[in-house]
Amino acid sequence: MKTILITGGVRGIGRSIALKFKQKGFRVCAVYSRDEENANSLAALGVEVYKADVSKEDEVASLFKKIGRVDVLVNNAGISLIKQIQDISYEEYERVMSVNMGGAFLCSREAARSMIDKRNGLIVNISSVWGEVGGSCESVYSASKAALLGFTKALAKELGWSGVRVNSVSPGVIDTPMNAHFSVEDIQAIKEEIPMGRLGTGEDVARAVEYLYENDYVTGADIPVNGGFSIV
Ligand code: NDP
Repeated sequence: MKTILITGGVRGIGRSIALKFKQKGFRVCAVYSRDEENANSLAALGVEVYKADVSKEDEVASLFKKIGRVDVLVNNAGISLIKQIQDISYEEYERVMSVNMGGAFLCSREAARSMIDKRNGLIVNISSVWGEVGGSCESVYSASKAALLGFTKALAKELGWSGVRVNSVSPGVIDTPMNAHFSVEDIQAIKEEIPMGRLGTGEDVARAVEYLYENDYVTGADIPVNGGFSIV
């Protein structure tokens, strides 16, 4: 049985990816740092849940010791920060970078060791449309997501020889708890900017991850899942 590890896998986009791969017969391991309620409800569906902060080197190391070798790693855990630059503290900057980019680095480093030994494996980084085009009042979040795109391409080149593939998915605006703070009016205004006229779903993103798993000649690629939001 193949193992998939999804960081931030207990709610939102990560949960949709977890359920998609559960259906495909995988051993599914989902990581969270605080959200016990969603962790418990996902565990009840047969998914293994693990508590770890992906920005902490020691916690990531012991996480991989508990889980063992993984065939697919999805670096999905992420936090947003919507603020003007003059109001962002250095501590906030470091937190966003250390979760969004640092977590992907730490988990990829652990996973890559055994993937290289086995000459097989897939890493998928969940970036964002803001990593591609930049989001106003989200400079640090956008930078963390742009870093993930560079990391993806560089690592794909570095690991190609070993059969380990590295790709990213860049969602647009997806209907998850991360966007729960938007008012009805905000959501309407966002929809008007999306050519397809609707927000995305976790399932839309999960299907892109599934494609990257199924097609074993794709590496270093980014799949935008955004209803046309980033078309220029
Ligand atoms: P949610 O806030 O709904 O879920 C985020 C998940 O990440 C939660 O399970 C959360 O669990 C986990 N998480 C956060 N910090 C950590 C941490 N330090 N260690 C371990 N787990 C952590 O977000 P979404 O599902 O909306 O987003 C998922 C990914 O997709 C993120 O990377 C986000 O940036 C990206 N994305 C989302 C978009 C959207 O519109 N929703 C658009 C583009 C990209 P816990 O609370 O327990 O820590």
